[in-house]
Amino acid sequence: MGVAQRDQQYIAPTYARSPLEAACGAGAVCTGADGRRYIDFSSGIGVNSLGFCDPGWVAAVSGQAAKLQHLSNLYYTGPMVDLAELLCKRTFAKKVFFANSGAEANEGMIKAARKYSFDRYGKGRHTIISLVNSFHGRTVTTLSATGQDVFHQYFDPFTEGFRFIPAGDTGALRAAVEGGGVCGVLLELIQGEGGVVPLDKAFVDAAAALCRENDLLLMVDEVQTGVGRTGRLLCCEHYGVTPDLVSLAKGLGGGLPIGAVLLGEKCADTLGPGVHGSTFGGNPVACAGACEVLRRLDGALLCEVEEKGAYITERVLAMPRVKRVDGKGLMLGVTLGGMDSKTAAAACLEHGLIILTAKEKLRMLPPLTITYAEIDEGLQSLREVLSQ
Ligand SMILES: *Cc1c(COP(=O)(O)O)cnc(C)c1O
Repeated sequence: MGVAQRDQQYIAPTYARSPLEAACGAGAVCTGADGRRYIDFSSGIGVNSLGFCDPGWVAAVSGQAAKLQHLSNLYYTGPMVDLAELLCKRTFAKKVFFANSGAEANEGMIKAARKYSFDRYGKGRHTIISLVNSFHGRTVTTLSATGQDVFHQYFDPFTEGFRFIPAGDTGALRAAVEGGGVCGVLLELIQGEGGVVPLDKAFVDAAAALCRENDLLLMVDEVQTGVGRTGRLLCCEHYGVTPDLVSLAKGLGGGLPIGAVLLGEKCADTLGPGVHGSTFGGNPVACAGACEVLRRLDGALLCEVEEKGAYITERVLAMPRVKRVDGKGLMLGVTLGGMDSKTAAAACLEHGLIILTAKEKLRMLPPLTITYAEIDEGLQSLREVLSQ
């Protein structure tokens, strides 16, 4: 039996998979098990920051795997310290907590916010304000933090202490804070799964000010927007705000599972010994991969991300059926007219292009290192599909 049939027999059916069995890849080119060539505008949902099997990344990861693959957090290992130092030197962070996924990083961030508030104000000041149409993960608590009703079924009872307001509604935000018992505000600066929806700068400024005035923690979920995706190391740099906590995951490891909580001044020492932990967190192989991603993500590459995003946007806007393009850098959402996004993505795959959807939009998250030749090839496939 082939992989697809055995997958259906043995794997829990949580994903409705598309008909592509990936065999290998290089850069933004994926080769199917049948030998077909695909241009990858997905990076595995923003994960493969340096594309498939980047030689520097492969050397960093395989070198570390051959040296020391794991030792418990009960002892010191170098790669996690190297990575934390890189993150602290290049962001607002004073300290870092390592986890293994986006949901786990958000769990860590939520725990840090509640613990900070507990330490200063005692029990009861635990409510986190989150946004309608957000997405923060699949654990019970991160589902509870997610502002979409479809995620609030089957798994009752959910975690208490989340209050939802519409993105952009500063009045509702102020009222939610005045409702009392609040310890923090959680937001994605560009809602990713929600449909590539950037927040207004005025709203983000208001949220940051309310947090400052009320000693609330500003928590930014940069699981998708972080690590250069939008043309800055962190998307919050575009907004000119300094959060108290930021979560990272997807693009951080360049293809290996890793999550991180960036802890600012207020929360640097909030999570003390025994308060939080993770067996795999800070795994040396994952951290070696992430260090390579960060070293490569210099000012020149970040500039390229912005330029390539502008290049793609300009060309996509000139295609048939395209109504608008939203997003920043290489995180782009395309609104179509007269063609459903799922139908378009399936047709793109038939035309040799791996592309994502987010709600009613086509979503592009190509590798940050994608070449202009690869972009042109992918855009050619997209044009063919949209011309049908
Ligand atoms: C993907 C995503 C998550 C969840 O990450 P996992 O690694 O799947 O747990 C959380 N927040 C945002 C903004 C995401 O895009």
